[in-house]
Amino acid sequence: MANYHQPDEHGHYGPYGGRFVAETLVPALDELQAAYAAAQQDPEFRGELHSELRQFVGRPNPLYHAARISRELGGAQIYLKREDLNHTGAHKINNAVGQALLARRMGKGRLIAETGAGQHGVATATVATRYGMECTVFMGADDIQRQSSNVYRMRLLGAQVVAVDSGTRTLKDALNEALREWVTRVEDTFYVIGTVAGPHPYPAMVRDFHRVIGDEARAQCLEQTGSLPAACIACVGGGSNAIGLFAAFIDDPEVRLIGVEAGGLGLASGKHAAPLNSGRPGVLHGNRTYLMEDGNGQILPTHSISAGLDYPGVGPEHAYLKDSGRAEYVVATDEEALAAFHTLSRREGIIPALETAHALAYAFKLAPQMRRDQSIVVNLSGRGDKDIHTVAAREGIAL
Ligand SMILES: *Cc1c(COP(=O)(O)O)cnc(C)c1O
Repeated sequence: MANYHQPDEHGHYGPYGGRFVAETLVPALDELQAAYAAAQQDPEFRGELHSELRQFVGRPNPLYHAARISRELGGAQIYLKREDLNHTGAHKINNAVGQALLARRMGKGRLIAETGAGQHGVATATVATRYGMECTVFMGADDIQRQSSNVYRMRLLGAQVVAVDSGTRTLKDALNEALREWVTRVEDTFYVIGTVAGPHPYPAMVRDFHRVIGDEARAQCLEQTGSLPAACIACVGGGSNAIGLFAAFIDDPEVRLIGVEAGGLGLASGKHAAPLNSGRPGVLHGNRTYLMEDGNGQILPTHSISAGLDYPGVGPEHAYLKDSGRAEYVVATDEEALAAFHTLSRREGIIPALETAHALAYAFKLAPQMRRDQSIVVNLSGRGDKDIHTVAAREGIAL
């Protein structure tokens, strides 16, 4: 690879990525790849995307100086990229809008998606309605039980939610089922993947649709502070909000790029969702990347307090950035994330998503070790309204 920005023509990031799929899926992926390449070159598509991000999503969102916390920590200035202020409350809508516009351009009238916590399902259901498309969301049967309010949201938006009973009845099974469904109805159906995973071209395409996060943050940081940040920090589930931020800074070697995985009950406990910190390379969901698997190649169960980080794999570009040393990957535990959730709520008047709280926890650790004239950009990937039941339950409060 000549640079960090593009995989090779087969979607390889070094030894990672690629396309490990049934032959029946190859024509659909080829069609998608060609359509996406054409759309990228088309000023009309780019203009439409730009306009939708402004009018429907609410971009650009602010880069907010968390002055009070920064002063209390006594080190680097912490800036928050406010993806939580987007319509539907997180970064996921950037990608959902992009893929839905591409589906429309390809003449597909039906969107399908997989979802774990339900956030990507809600984003996809939202854009399907916006563009007058049908929508079916595949969700593990156990997740449907656990995430009933997001299931209801999807139904309010007019989507059909299909329970997946196979395997562990969670996200990875929903993803397999969505891929199977896509093969059977590829003429009228577009599969909207929710993170930088899956077979090529998904990891690169989803990264591109989230790059607006980093492009805005870079310009805002230069304007507001006069220089680039010393570090960019984001939580990593599949890795889409992190890569969207990192993409704009990869060519600035002085900017540290730090991804924070879900440490759960601690790496030593085995109960976590941190494939980059404790996994090894293997193949899952159509690409090669770091995975949590046992000695026989079986995917291990994951644990995190935040449903959105609960994924045993990670986008292949992160695997490459880790091995090359350009990005660093650390963990924050459930307890550390909870503490950061409360700190941001009480100090800045912003209730963050529990996923995001992992990034904040690490930023709060790092800032005091840095100088006051340095800055850290944290991707505030989502708002915490969806998590208040989880947090309250930990305190014995039933809402
Ligand atoms: C889904 C989600 C994540 C994790 O997904 P990535 O693809 O790693 O970004 C992080 N934060 C929020 C708020 C989410 O909804």
